[in-house]
Amino acid sequence: MRRDEAGADSGSSAHAPAAVFEAEIAALEAQGLRRHRRVLQSPQQPLARVDGCEVVAFCSNDYLGLAADPRVQAATIEGAGLYGVGGGASHLILGHGTAHHALEAALAKFVSLPRALLFSTGYMANLGIVTALVGRGDAVFADRLNHASLNDAAQLSRAEFNRYAHGDLAALERLLAASDAARKLVITDAVFSMDGDIAPVPALLALCERYDAWLLLDDAHGFGVLGADGAGVLQHFGMASERIIYMATLGKAAGVFGAFVAADESVIEWLVQRARPYIYTTAMPPMLAHAVLKSLEIIGGEVERRARLAALIEQLKGAVAGLRWQLLPSATAIQPLMIGDTVEAVRVSDALAARGLLVPAIRPPTVPVGTARLRISLSAAHEPRHIEQLAQALHETGAGT
Ligand SMILES: *Cc1c(COP(=O)(O)O)cnc(C)c1O
Repeated sequence: MRRDEAGADSGSSAHAPAAVFEAEIAALEAQGLRRHRRVLQSPQQPLARVDGCEVVAFCSNDYLGLAADPRVQAATIEGAGLYGVGGGASHLILGHGTAHHALEAALAKFVSLPRALLFSTGYMANLGIVTALVGRGDAVFADRLNHASLNDAAQLSRAEFNRYAHGDLAALERLLAASDAARKLVITDAVFSMDGDIAPVPALLALCERYDAWLLLDDAHGFGVLGADGAGVLQHFGMASERIIYMATLGKAAGVFGAFVAADESVIEWLVQRARPYIYTTAMPPMLAHAVLKSLEIIGGEVERRARLAALIEQLKGAVAGLRWQLLPSATAIQPLMIGDTVEAVRVSDALAARGLLVPAIRPPTVPVGTARLRISLSAAHEPRHIEQLAQALHETGAGT
């Protein structure tokens, strides 16, 4: 039967999913909020081929340039030879293999914590950690600029969800002091993904100690980058505490895929028992665990990659001084150039793209209204001349208006 002959159903075609979402998409388009994907036709690297054009890209989280490293590539192939491709089962059934097991031990050692547990992605790790550690009757305290996965995790946990203004320790303290929740969990990005600043972890830990709370650190952007060996934010601050649950991802500086959490033995054992995104999903392909073992070796061994990244960051800071826009104060690979107005940010990003330089414009609602920015992310694989090109194009673009 055709829909228009369906009598009682005749009014429903406007509510068919296609019609509903056509209207929703049109609304996004009208507000300039519709997102489009570019097609990357080369490996993830600064000199990339995108939609048929050769560009210099400042868009990846591949901070150490390992995503296309030939040794990591070779380890992946070697891993496929040793273990095949698919995980084939969840970790608690028969998906937990030699490579996963070895990688967990290596990660725990690398971040100097008693035990580590692999997750298939960082998003899933956050959902799994928070929902296993807290629930109804407990409370989560979260920085407003935290990653979406931490916010989603807090909501899924059913714990009371308290958010404090970015970096506002006094506000956090008031919330902690007023809380009579059974368990209190403070959750924060260690390096904030849109601002690039490092969370005041020692002060956060001091508050957690004072108010008997636990501290979950999401070091997605610090692991591999911060600390002398690249062990991340804890090494950066020279810290250790039984209250800390440390999480990081393996798809950013480590150049592969996946995530892990590291903490005390019993915390990890509890996650094995209760973290649903750990239990009810297929183990990551073992060849990728094998590849991460290689990339860990490179992260720890090649200090010069972090030195190179640090030099590029300093070069960028010097090269954009005097522009009408300023970099946010960031010591990390994430260097946001604050533009303010959304339309202007898109205009600058487009002008750079026309010169073969890809820098994403980050707009509301990802960042607050009035703080649209270009998010420049640097990699140890960039060359000084790439920074020069970017700075020159920014000076020309800025002068032209
Ligand atoms: C990227 C990111 C995640 C998610 O990690 P995936 O492995 O990409 O799912 C979580 N937290 C932060 C802060 C991130 O930047």
